Amino acid sequence: MVHDIVQKVMANMQISGSVSGMHGVFKDMNDAINASIEAQKKVCTMTLDQREQIISLIRKKTHENAEILANMGVNETGMGNVGDKILKHHLTADKVPGTEDISTIAWSGDRGLTLVEMGPFGVIGAITPATNPSETVICNCIGMLAGGNTVVFNPHPNAKKTTIYTINMINEASIEAGGPDNIAVTVEAPTLDTSAIMMKHPSIHLLVATGGPGVVTAVLSSGKRAIGAGAGNPPVLVDETADIRKAAQDIVNGCTFDNNLPCIAEKEIVAVDSVADELMNYMISENGCYLASKEIQDKLVQTVFTPKGALNRKCVGRSAQTLLAMVGVNVGPEIRCIVFEGQKEHPLIAEELMMPILGMVRVKSFEEGVETAVWLEHGNRHSAHIHSKNVDHITTYARALDTAILVKNGPSYAALGFGGEGYCTFTIASRTGEGLTAAHSFTKSRRCTMSDSLCIR
Ligand code: NAD
Repeated sequence: MVHDIVQKVMANMQISGSVSGMHGVFKDMNDAINASIEAQKKVCTMTLDQREQIISLIRKKTHENAEILANMGVNETGMGNVGDKILKHHLTADKVPGTEDISTIAWSGDRGLTLVEMGPFGVIGAITPATNPSETVICNCIGMLAGGNTVVFNPHPNAKKTTIYTINMINEASIEAGGPDNIAVTVEAPTLDTSAIMMKHPSIHLLVATGGPGVVTAVLSSGKRAIGAGAGNPPVLVDETADIRKAAQDIVNGCTFDNNLPCIAEKEIVAVDSVADELMNYMISENGCYLASKEIQDKLVQTVFTPKGALNRKCVGRSAQTLLAMVGVNVGPEIRCIVFEGQKEHPLIAEELMMPILGMVRVKSFEEGVETAVWLEHGNRHSAHIHSKNVDHITTYARALDTAILVKNGPSYAALGFGGEGYCTFTIASRTGEGLTAAHSFTKSRRCTMSDSLCIR
């Protein structure tokens, strides 16, 4: 049933070559921006309660469409797996904060009352990745609308249909709740040119980029305020005090979630010598890991990278079973992850792969482990994880890695509120320092002072 709906939606978009009839979708980027400007004039006069009514309908529709959106994302991009993508949509619907995230500061005293209120930027330009296409759009929309903004998206071209379907869904929610159309807009054919028009447009004062280093550098070079949620290469350190059996399970669960697409997912292990063998044994015997020989590792390097050293997009977000089939190894779906031991410089360890290949670097001591993990994180300061019962080790590691996210003794996705406390986001701005973005990140600070009155203390 869902499969039929997805095929129909995607085929219709293909046959017509146009997506008219979908709310918020324009041929021309300038038309899209103008529609967003008009919508924002209405949004900023709406009460917080009216914004919340739209957000609650976006949440409801996200739950209802989770299966369709997950299928569309996997069909269109070829990346990730439907089951995990469904979970990601439910998580987005439930745990991305709305207007409650925006708070006011007040000072009152003999000279009156001063408030600092967080107001909208207006129209925000957002660039979204292929790896979490609809999740990022929904997450950005909830936070940006809560802050009183509207948003123009320039999505990854490989995920445009999924994005268009999502944007239509969001505008339907707004209209049903009595809000304006075009609270989120995009173009039929997003390109670097449409992105450049958006970045240069004088009515857009905030840019939000979720993606690799190229796009973050692009928005930071725009001359405008920008939030840059860039790449990571999260190491997970396991020391001699860890619960090794649990660490093996958590690491494989985190690494294989949505075929390793999340930027926060475990990308390589650093294990202290005295526990490295035990960890590897548990991963293989209890957690569906395939131990790759030197020959298979070499074949994987040939397959996963192009001759120029770039990532082969046909491998990104694929399952371990598919990756192994590409190098001539046939295994069943019970194999979830490919593991091996190697030096930190091994290309399958040092590079951010976004596929379930997990290399383990053996180190003599915790101290060497910290140094190795810092090297592997490449200064992204994005995410790092640790399994340890030693609080001094955890503290040292956290200080040295200096990342926006650090998960201790759990799978990486606990940091997104999935099996952990706290809210969810799919835009983690490590490079520009906002960390896990939410509604407050998309607002600007405004001081409002009443002189010599309104203090009633
Ligand atoms: P990507 O960098 O190829 O593309 C991301 C977006 O940026 C796309 O919309 C793309 O069209 C656009 N883009 C790329 N270069 C651009 C440029 N020079 N000017 C304007 N737009 C440009 O990444 P992807 O494959 O879609 O996503 C994977 C990458 O994103 C990984 O590096 C991952 O770590 C990162 N990511 C980070 C976060 C985060 O929250 N920090 C979340 C998801 C993904």
